[in-house]
Amino acid sequence: MSTRLDPAPRLPFPYRPEAEVVATTLQQLQGRLDWPAVVAQARPWVQAVREQPAPFWALESLLREYPISSSEGLALMRLAEALLRVPDAETAIALTADQLGRAEFDGEGGPAEGPHKMLAQISASAIALSKRFLPESDNPPGLLQRLGSRTVVAATVRAIQLLGRQFVLGRSIGEAMDEAAAQRKAEARLTFSYDMLGEGARTERDAERYLVSYRHALRAIAGGRMASSPMAADGISIKLSALFTRYEDAQRERVAAVLLPRVRQLVDEAAAANLNLTIDAEESDRLELSLALFEALAAHIAATHPAWQGFGLAVQAYQTRALAVVDEVARIAREAPCEGGLRFMVRLVKGAYWDGEVKRAQEAGLPGYPVFTHKHHTDASYLACAARLIEHHAVIYPQFATHNAGTIAAIVQMAQRQGAAFEMQRLHGMGEGVYREVLAATPVACRVYAPVGEHRDLLAYLVRRLLENGANSSFVHQLADAAVAPEELLASPLGAATRTQAAPALPLPVALYGAGRANSTGADLACVAQRAPLETAVAMTHVAPPPMDTPADVDAAMQRLHRGFEAWHQRPLAERAAILRAAGDALDARLPEFCGLLVKEAHKTLGDCVAEVREAVDFCRYYADQAEQRLAEQELPGPTGERNTLRLKGRGVFVCISPWNFPLAIFAGQVVAALVAGNTVAAKPAEQTPVVAARFVELLHRAGVPADALALLHGLGETVGAALVAHPHTAGVCFTGSTQVARLINRTLAAKDGSIVPLIAETGGLNAMLVDSTALPEQVVDAVVQSAFRSAGQRCSALRLLVLHEATADGVIEMLQGAMAELVVGDPAQLATDVGPLIDDEAFAALSAAVQRLEREARLLGRTPVDTAAFPRLLAPVAFEIGRIAELKAELFGPVLHVVRWGPGQAAKTVDEVVAQVNALGYGLTLGVQTRIDTRAERIAAAARVGNVYVNRNMIGAVVGVQPFGGEGLSGTGPKAGGPHYLYRFCAEQTVTVNTAAAGGNAELLAGLA
Ligand SMILES: Cc1cc2nc3c(=O)[nH]c(=O)nc-3n(C[C@H](O)[C@H](O)[C@H](O)COP(=O)(O)OP(=O)(O)OC[C@H]3O[C@@H](n4cnc5c(N)ncnc54)[C@H](O)[C@@H]3O)c2cc1C
Repeated sequence: MSTRLDPAPRLPFPYRPEAEVVATTLQQLQGRLDWPAVVAQARPWVQAVREQPAPFWALESLLREYPISSSEGLALMRLAEALLRVPDAETAIALTADQLGRAEFDGEGGPAEGPHKMLAQISASAIALSKRFLPESDNPPGLLQRLGSRTVVAATVRAIQLLGRQFVLGRSIGEAMDEAAAQRKAEARLTFSYDMLGEGARTERDAERYLVSYRHALRAIAGGRMASSPMAADGISIKLSALFTRYEDAQRERVAAVLLPRVRQLVDEAAAANLNLTIDAEESDRLELSLALFEALAAHIAATHPAWQGFGLAVQAYQTRALAVVDEVARIAREAPCEGGLRFMVRLVKGAYWDGEVKRAQEAGLPGYPVFTHKHHTDASYLACAARLIEHHAVIYPQFATHNAGTIAAIVQMAQRQGAAFEMQRLHGMGEGVYREVLAATPVACRVYAPVGEHRDLLAYLVRRLLENGANSSFVHQLADAAVAPEELLASPLGAATRTQAAPALPLPVALYGAGRANSTGADLACVAQRAPLETAVAMTHVAPPPMDTPADVDAAMQRLHRGFEAWHQRPLAERAAILRAAGDALDARLPEFCGLLVKEAHKTLGDCVAEVREAVDFCRYYADQAEQRLAEQELPGPTGERNTLRLKGRGVFVCISPWNFPLAIFAGQVVAALVAGNTVAAKPAEQTPVVAARFVELLHRAGVPADALALLHGLGETVGAALVAHPHTAGVCFTGSTQVARLINRTLAAKDGSIVPLIAETGGLNAMLVDSTALPEQVVDAVVQSAFRSAGQRCSALRLLVLHEATADGVIEMLQGAMAELVVGDPAQLATDVGPLIDDEAFAALSAAVQRLEREARLLGRTPVDTAAFPRLLAPVAFEIGRIAELKAELFGPVLHVVRWGPGQAAKTVDEVVAQVNALGYGLTLGVQTRIDTRAERIAAAARVGNVYVNRNMIGAVVGVQPFGGEGLSGTGPKAGGPHYLYRFCAEQTVTVNTAAAGGNAELLAGLA
């Protein structure tokens, strides 16, 4: 049975103003809570927990001694995240030395007070002593040191394993169930929800493995028996991102075709055994999709197991849409197509990905945050959702997951007043003290979320728990800190929310850059309201190429621009800057229209189009600000009786020649920089993408750029471009394109008589990503796929050479192969498409020939399956292994990745050798580094002759003013576009020295004024 997932939005807009949402939240709670009674109930719990603090080796104690805000705490967290996965001793030693070497465990940074002061000092001394056995950061150790350092590393590994153990109930489901049985002996009201640990699946094989492990767990829990009720029995929690590689809104059809049947299988098994199966809540851009799946599954349950009450969903209270989600789940239950509807379980959590949600909203320039920005807003939302769940208790069995004593007491009060059945939940390894007291004082039941898995699978989960326990705002953290008074710890979130409801705690994404320029507006493509205008624009856009210009047109335009120069450069700087800002604002408001043009003319995917329009908007605003800050007249210091002034002004007519791969952003960046510096501009876009350039030029004219300050010339490079470069009025050239053409322009300029004309050239790259064995393979593969294949590899920053450490190369390659197999190559107008076509037939023929050559000369590692009939010029993303870095000779401007290994058994044995060999290729644009060894990343960046180094992320998508972009060597002349030094190159400089004492003497000095 195949089901379509309805894409209609079920929830309100995710980015409503926080104040508005908080007002609704508070309304929901009016008259429902007696907070003094809440405090009276919770205070003894707090006191009792504080009187019996957790043992020294417990995480809570460790994090109190070394909070994650300190360098020591951070070092512990980073070791915990990475050390266990490092297979080779050399790297493990380097990582340990790096992290322990950064932190001050030697006493100064240690705790001043606290119940474990002495123990903490002893352990600090032990770590400090151990550090002596470790080499200096990333340098290879000597023999003696090597022996000592191996011992230290082994001890550190052991310590992290013990730390991890606190959060894992067992390595296998059997072991976990034995442990659960032991715990239940001590407390009969405990039930468990098992979670099979792991990262989201990157490959189909991983997803199948998770499916098998969930099924195995379900069978083990059922043990062949049917439980009396899902409330009384143990159950499982599942992560949908583990069961399908592309659990994304853009892939709805595949989610319906692949993921839905998988979850249905699990649901059938859980229903047959009458157990609880809960779907974990993940990122906010998956929320609508998760509800669509939930409803489809509800329809299935209504048809097959209508009496089953164990199907559940986790709901995150930190989301601004939380209350609506609760109502939606209740609606699905009531409207389920079976007699009397269904009854579900809902686990209410606050939410585990707060920092990630904030970062995503800022990066993507979203209209707001999908989550609250004050902790007490989340706390208030949690209580409001709880109240609503209790109201819906006829169709929902509420499960309240929190470790916060105040929240627990408030829930118990509300639920008992309404006489609703419910349970509390906690994570294994957390909140044990509080629940010991809660269970002693109240009759509530408690379910423990119990992760199951090996150490390797624990790391991401462990880090989330470390963050949660270590954050200053977290209840668990404050509970362990005796300096926080119980009144403060148990303060009502409602009072605080009433006080702060108008003001978000963080600047909105649009205000990211402070009081200066506004951040450009992005769009959340997972949100129908945001996506629809873009899709409509794409559907309505048709592009018709304009006629080409001739060399005669070039001369006429250059004469006009030459004449226009005087008037334009005399315009006050503030006026020129204001025109740029007006252009930026106009473009920002016309995002859908320009996305439509980019999809239709440059064949870019929607995500790439949004990023490109934003970059162009940022260029306009950034260069306007930069011009005012840097190009204004400056008084220079000098002797008395003299005034010295430095002025920057336009050079004359600037020729701007831009490529097709960023037909808006690069075109706009060149043109507006030249204009704001006071030049007039002859702009020649690539012949493949004239329409988008023409529309932007129109926009500039409308914003106030005079007709004789900017001329657009269409034509082939060899005719129009060459005529422009060679023209006698050309005062400067700004070029982005191939190294060959840059050389040609350089030679033409050099051969010209007359003034010496400056050239700003930005060209290609043979960009590498260096990966060591501390890197997280999932992160590496995500970064590689984005960097090498997004925009079909047609970016000068794109990854061409992946350099993998031999100890982990096979695993990374296997994951990469799996991830490549999941990419969608096709029509860029389709939201589901990841990789669009190549730009034209010529590029397609050249790239296809290069791939054929590689098929003969290198080892094919992986290739994305492609339906070549779906759209013209689709080239399958492909990866080849080569033997040496030096084998890479030329830039292949498409989705073709080379992979090479490094390490003791390879041609490049050390990090330094890798960097030297990459430098020797002669290009110098971007470099990716994937390592958890900070000193190593710093050393690589210092040695690399490249313009942009990206550590532990992808290496594309430089943001204006944040990552100024441009390289050196064969990659270009600089200065960097979108950086503080760019505009200077477009200017002529003049100093004016006036002898103010010339007319009769130095009056100012004599008057005592100078
Ligand atoms: C049984 C169980 C299952 C869970 N399942 C999931 C799940 O499926 N998905 C998921 O995301 N999480 C899940 N969690 C994790 C859960 O989100 C955290 O454990 C929880 O947020 C901690 O809340 P608390 O009430 O214990 O602590 P508190 O200290 O009272 O609250 C901490 C929480 O407040 C929120 N917060 C912190 N700072 C801010 C801020 N500045 N602005 C707004 N909000 C802020 C965050 O959500 C943070 O986690 C689960 C937890 C349990 C116990």
